[in-house]
Amino acid sequence: MSKKAGRRTIDYMMNKKSEPDKEMIGTLIDMALDQRRLSYAPYSGYRVGAALLAADGKIFTGCNIENAAYTPTICAERTAFFKAVSEGVRDFEAICIVGGREEKPSGYSSPCGVCRQVMREFCDPGSFRIILATDRQHYDIYTLGQLLPVGFGPDNLA
Ligand SMILES: [Zn+2]
Repeated sequence: MSKKAGRRTIDYMMNKKSEPDKEMIGTLIDMALDQRRLSYAPYSGYRVGAALLAADGKIFTGCNIENAAYTPTICAERTAFFKAVSEGVRDFEAICIVGGREEKPSGYSSPCGVCRQVMREFCDPGSFRIILATDRQHYDIYTLGQLLPVGFGPDNLA
């Protein structure tokens, strides 16, 4: 890594925008839990819902969609991102993710590496927030930079 690239990563990490407020976090958790009901996961039984907050305030939801051939399976997070991008939205603030095998999620469902990389394409690692939740009372918030440190993104090809 060049010195310049390292500096840029540190700048991202230091760029602390405010987190979504509690009311918005609650809304995102509710929407992710609602969306999870539409998950299509007959093979793993692991059902995931996501709610992606765009900078303009719009919220895009997504669920995981499995496939008998396995590899066409897509995660809830990427479903939400691709719905948004396909409608011309590319500026995002936060995503909430809920998931698990139980009727109600009992633990946090962290995004897979592929989804983290998709987030890195469109989101600032220092300010984009990833909210892992089970319900309105239980959630943790990470920046993308915390979950994908020293990532490879569009700026590496600029
Ligand atoms: Zn994923």
